[in-house]
Amino acid sequence: MTDQLSSNIQDYLKRIYEITSGGGLATTNQLASVLKVSPASVTNMVQKLATTRPSYLVYYKHKGVQLTEAGRLAALKIIRRHRLIEHYLMDALGYTWDEVHQEAEILEHAMSPLLESRIDAALGHPEFNPHGNPIPNSNLSVPEIEQISLNAIDVNQTAVILSVPHEDPKVLRYLDKFGLRPNVQIKLLSRTPYDQTMRVQITATGEEVIIGPTLAEEIALLIEE
Ligand SMILES: [Zn+2]
Repeated sequence: MTDQLSSNIQDYLKRIYEITSGGGLATTNQLASVLKVSPASVTNMVQKLATTRPSYLVYYKHKGVQLTEAGRLAALKIIRRHRLIEHYLMDALGYTWDEVHQEAEILEHAMSPLLESRIDAALGHPEFNPHGNPIPNSNLSVPEIEQISLNAIDVNQTAVILSVPHEDPKVLRYLDKFGLRPNVQIKLLSRTPYDQTMRVQITATGEEVIIGPTLAEEIALLIEE
């Protein structure tokens, strides 16, 4: 079923999943912004996706949308392919981690189930993509991981990076320069009271990095016991 969905519909479902994964609804304006289309186009599309059989989402007029189970599974399927491709490009083809997202945005729509399972097997069924996001398994289940953003920890607290924002190559190159990657332990050295700018130290190297609150919101951490 999902294989017959257009690339455009797959992108909608993926974006709605991302926006609503923490709970709540995806609004028309949020979708228009991430999909780079007009709010009117979003309204047309979500009305359509709410009336297909099976329907992929529920549309609450003037409030937003939420995926149905069919929509959620279709989204997870495309997210699985996207993250496997990112992993494969780095692992097998020597891409850097700031290059893989844009390629995966294109290739995710062209991947057959056979290629998906071969890549998954070749990589040894990985659980995370290079940016630390979980890869849904072949049954489309995703592990629940306890996480908080870098903004939420206290000064002098240490934590291990779970995931970093993956879409902007400039951000990834900046993080990479300091070795700020998933599984790396960091310590928050200070946070300014006026604009919440943080000084973060990488435990293994002692190197310090300045991070603003917008970027910090998108860096997910596992809290150490
Ligand atoms: Zn990506």
